[in-house]
Amino acid sequence: MEQHPCATCRDNCCAPLRGLKVTRAEFDRVFSDKVDRLSIIDNGDWLQISSTTGACPNLRDGLCQVYDDRPMECRLFPYTIETITPRDQVVQVYVHGSTHCPAREQLKPAVTTAHAMVSDFCADAFPHLSADITIIDRPNPVALRVSRAARRFRLATTL
Ligand code: SF4
Ligand code: SF4
Repeated sequence: MEQHPCATCRDNCCAPLRGLKVTRAEFDRVFSDKVDRLSIIDNGDWLQISSTTGACPNLRDGLCQVYDDRPMECRLFPYTIETITPRDQVVQVYVHGSTHCPAREQLKPAVTTAHAMVSDFCADAFPHLSADITIIDRPNPVALRVSRAARRFRLATTL
């Protein structure tokens, strides 16, 4: 059986944990009992978390202890949510695929899957916004624009 590339990776991408974006529901599910090891920026329906001890508190012996329940941004990797910028009636989410992950090409989700994952994240993070999704190809970095006025997500990407 083929070995998973993470099993032999020397660069564990969960250590250090810096600035992971999670929805409130994701936080409650896998991080709420580990707040003593986290620095947390609470933005309401979504949070940005970093480890105060280095590695993600869900990492043990090099393995994620909540793998089947891990948050969307963990599933999205090797893509990363860089910024979420609410501004007036628009929220912009920038996603990039710049990483040293040696298995990047093997692990990255299909473009349509990545679109759906980021859109689902936004649906949870901004529940008052919903949700026709328009996908437009654009150069990197990926930009997902959420328009409150139009009540429409516009996802612009070439992942
Ligand atoms: S996702 Fe990439 S960087 Fe992270 S542990 Fe696996 S192979 Fe290493
Ligand atoms: S929840 Fe799991 S996959 Fe996500 S950063 Fe922590 S250890 Fe890594």
